[in-house]
Amino acid sequence: MARPAKYVKDVVPAMSMRFNGYANEMKARGEDVTILSFGEAFFDIPLYRFDTLPFPELYHYSDSRGLVGLRQKLAAYYHGQYGVPVNAANEIIVTAGSKIGLHMSFMALLEPGDEVVVPEPAWVSYSEQVRLCHGNPVMVPFDVPVEELGEWVTPRTRAIVVCSPQNPTGRVYTRDELRALHAMAQQHDVYLIADEAYSEFLAEGEYVSVGVDDPDKEHTILCNTMSKNYGMSGWRIGYLISNPRMMEQLLKISQHLMTCPPTILEQYLERHFDEILEITKPQILDIVKKRTALADYARELGLRYMEGTATFYLFVSIEDSALSSEEFCQRLLSEQKVCIVPGLGYGASCDGFVRVAVGTESMERTRAAFRAIKDLIDATPRAYADLAERESGRELAFAAGD
Ligand code: PMP
Repeated sequence: MARPAKYVKDVVPAMSMRFNGYANEMKARGEDVTILSFGEAFFDIPLYRFDTLPFPELYHYSDSRGLVGLRQKLAAYYHGQYGVPVNAANEIIVTAGSKIGLHMSFMALLEPGDEVVVPEPAWVSYSEQVRLCHGNPVMVPFDVPVEELGEWVTPRTRAIVVCSPQNPTGRVYTRDELRALHAMAQQHDVYLIADEAYSEFLAEGEYVSVGVDDPDKEHTILCNTMSKNYGMSGWRIGYLISNPRMMEQLLKISQHLMTCPPTILEQYLERHFDEILEITKPQILDIVKKRTALADYARELGLRYMEGTATFYLFVSIEDSALSSEEFCQRLLSEQKVCIVPGLGYGASCDGFVRVAVGTESMERTRAAFRAIKDLIDATPRAYADLAERESGRELAFAAGD
């Protein structure tokens, strides 16, 4: 019988999407679920007219690097906003979301068996994308300082992933850490794959792009997206920036996988690029302020979380609970109807954490959810670990069927 490839079978589903799926099912059954698992913030954005966009061009393929006008906007944005010079002609490709852009980057770099250093906590898709490219993700536990990542580099290493601001912690890499990473990339002749999806989600201080210390992008691929900063995740528009030689390779991959992103959406974004950023900017600030207020509240409750100030995520410690992060999230969902994401999805070293995304629910409901998290930790203290172990044979709600 025809069978799927083993390496595809071995890939694990995205933990965040699995829990989003549970929450959506419960909602469809009419249950009132507090959803703190979605990886986006909901903004008020107007819908501009589509019938004034270039017609009939909107019906057809666009340039496989992306619409030239949109590339120019994006290049100017990276230069103006972050001080990274970008040549719109040959240093940028528009992609159908940044997820495929990241995957294309791994494809461009990896021979079978090559390695990518992935610091934990790591967004759910890095390791699986590397595996889908026949590579080996080298997962680095969360307590290893950035300056020591070089110790995880081997002759097979082709890239180091840098996610700043980081999903799921909101951590922003310091300039010194970025300099250390560039030095490592140069020393070992590897690429930095810089995922900057949350580059606007900072309350204070200017964001330092990974591209700043490598303006020629000799060893850097920058990945960004409209999904978070523009609040338009459903449109699937992202982009890649790197040196022209790397772009030639990425372009071939893009041409064989995508051809181009949807032309009509590129046109729309090209036309409304600046307005939408102006509209989302204050809303982003509000969300980051909300995050700060909730972080204070979490601390008042006696909760701890991994260091971080940006994004709309908090990576909250459940180390005082005897439950694994999956058990914890399943119980919180079935007993309290609060949906968050198990830390295990962000790496084996992160099972003592859960990801709480505060971009979609009201302050009141989110505060109640934090209280529910604290209550569940208190109700399942580590001291009773042996008891939980005895109970672990029992079927947990939602454990099956995935
Ligand atoms: N990188 C990170 C860190 C993310 O959190 C996400 C989405 N959750 C992505 C990349 C992919 O975003 P998109 O494909 O929508 O651009």
